[in-house]
Amino acid sequence: MKDYINKIALSIDVEDWYHTPLVTGASFSKYKTLDDFFSDWKGKFDTITEPTLKILELLEKYNITATFFVVANVVQNYPLIVEALKNSPHEIACHSLNHNSSIDSKTKQPLQPLEEWTKELIQAKNILEYTFQKEIIGYRAPGAYFGKWMIPVLEKLGFKYDSSIAYNSLYNKTDVQLTNIPSTPYRLNSKTLGPDNPDSNLIELPWANIRFLGKNIPAGGAYFFRLMGFNFYKYAIRKNLENGDTMFYFHPIDCTDDEIPLSNFKSRPFYWINKGTKTLRKIEKLFKYFDGRFAPCSEIYEKYILKQDVQFSQIR
Ligand SMILES: [Zn+2]
Repeated sequence: MKDYINKIALSIDVEDWYHTPLVTGASFSKYKTLDDFFSDWKGKFDTITEPTLKILELLEKYNITATFFVVANVVQNYPLIVEALKNSPHEIACHSLNHNSSIDSKTKQPLQPLEEWTKELIQAKNILEYTFQKEIIGYRAPGAYFGKWMIPVLEKLGFKYDSSIAYNSLYNKTDVQLTNIPSTPYRLNSKTLGPDNPDSNLIELPWANIRFLGKNIPAGGAYFFRLMGFNFYKYAIRKNLENGDTMFYFHPIDCTDDEIPLSNFKSRPFYWINKGTKTLRKIEKLFKYFDGRFAPCSEIYEKYILKQDVQFSQIR
């Protein structure tokens, strides 16, 4: 078997500031639905068109193909983003219909009946496939809130991989006690969300983490990337690459210079720390440093399946 170089699945979650749980879609949000938000909100809502276009330019400059996890609702309101993505080589994946949290942050119980959740997911997949005329095989849960009950539905709807599971010492946003979660792709067990005794066809591209000061720190990107900075991430990604393929993600909103109207919402004061052009510059530094290492999630998924087939034929 040909030796593969370990790669970084590069993913970009396309959502705006009001999709965050403080504003909409969670049990503790100011607005319960996006419709409530749009009917009430008078301020600027689009803070991501400009950074998304800049990110696309940067990807082109460094010859990187990435995966854009798009909230299907974005399609209605951001025509320039849709047009630019349509004319790009990037993979499109599904980041839900409205970015509503799927499970309660405290109890980890589903926030919607399963039928309703499934209906929204079908709608989201259809909107994205129709808009971009591409098959959607990847899913990421909003806010990484992932329930084990999602697995059979995702499989049934034709999703081939998920990238939501973040294993670390600081938080667990799933409905099981996570143990033994690798930082490299694996086939999911539908009860433990781990790699042992896999009983589903869904491949997980888990979020990276790194051992630091006795704890497993999330090293997937976005907020922790803004917080910890370039050098820490350079080290964390290199460490994760030693084990195999890994994953890095960020949002256009991480790179916006627009002000987020925080005063209207009770908020974690440091949540938007270091956002804006300085984060975009740090991302560019990563692109340069890990030149040739980035790939879309679909490529990492295909490589995983191919490797498994090869191992299987060797055993036989
Ligand atoms: Zn998101």
